[in-house]
Amino acid sequence: MKSASDTVTRKAGPAAGERRNYQQELDRILLQQQEKRPRLLLHSCCGPCSSSVLEYLTQFFEVTVFWYNPNIYPQEEFDRRLLAQRELLEKMGFAGRVGLMTVPRDSAPWYRATQGLEGEPEGGARCTECFRLRLREAAEAAARGGYDWYCSTLTLSRHKDPVRINALGEAFAEEFHVRWLPSEFKKRGRELRSQQLCAQYGIYRQNYCGCEYSLAKRNVQPDERPAPAPVTPAVDSPR
Ligand code: SF4
Repeated sequence: MKSASDTVTRKAGPAAGERRNYQQELDRILLQQQEKRPRLLLHSCCGPCSSSVLEYLTQFFEVTVFWYNPNIYPQEEFDRRLLAQRELLEKMGFAGRVGLMTVPRDSAPWYRATQGLEGEPEGGARCTECFRLRLREAAEAAARGGYDWYCSTLTLSRHKDPVRINALGEAFAEEFHVRWLPSEFKKRGRELRSQQLCAQYGIYRQNYCGCEYSLAKRNVQPDERPAPAPVTPAVDSPR
């Protein structure tokens, strides 16, 4: 039988003008929140993306970072990114108040999920399956741990489609009976803010998405991403 998440297609979502405003939806949820700080399981794709997201969300939630990234290749890079995540929590003063739940690297499920999609471009169908695998695990962990909400830092990156990520998040929320927090974290300057925080705290920023195919592409093409902006004291609207 098909689950709700199976109905989320591998294709990109509709054009920006036609789609939901996830930031406004998140604003409304935060406004309705009572005094009690709900527990949130935040899937983190990497330390850098989690930086400004944590700065934002810890104002409203008791956050636990969930590290499940079997896409990262090779093992040394996985270890390096996980270390960067730990360092970030420590250096930003979150140690002791933000939990960290890690799943050791086992790439087999990821290779199974993306089989036949090796040649897809970044942003294509392989990425949908990559999101699907990681968000399913996050939803399961959130349900198991009795969290009030779950979400992912994946929507911080301008290279990742927030429509697909939110659609998958919502589908797994339905399947595992846990609430998905809608997001488009890159809004309100948070992508730039993450660059500033990484520079400020000396956090390692990788130059490829994560899987071996994105690494191969990065190795034959120059880094097309914009250079990190000069670091100036940033003002980030918390909402
Ligand atoms: S490019 Fe990134 S999101 Fe896409 S499959 Fe590779 S690791 Fe996953």
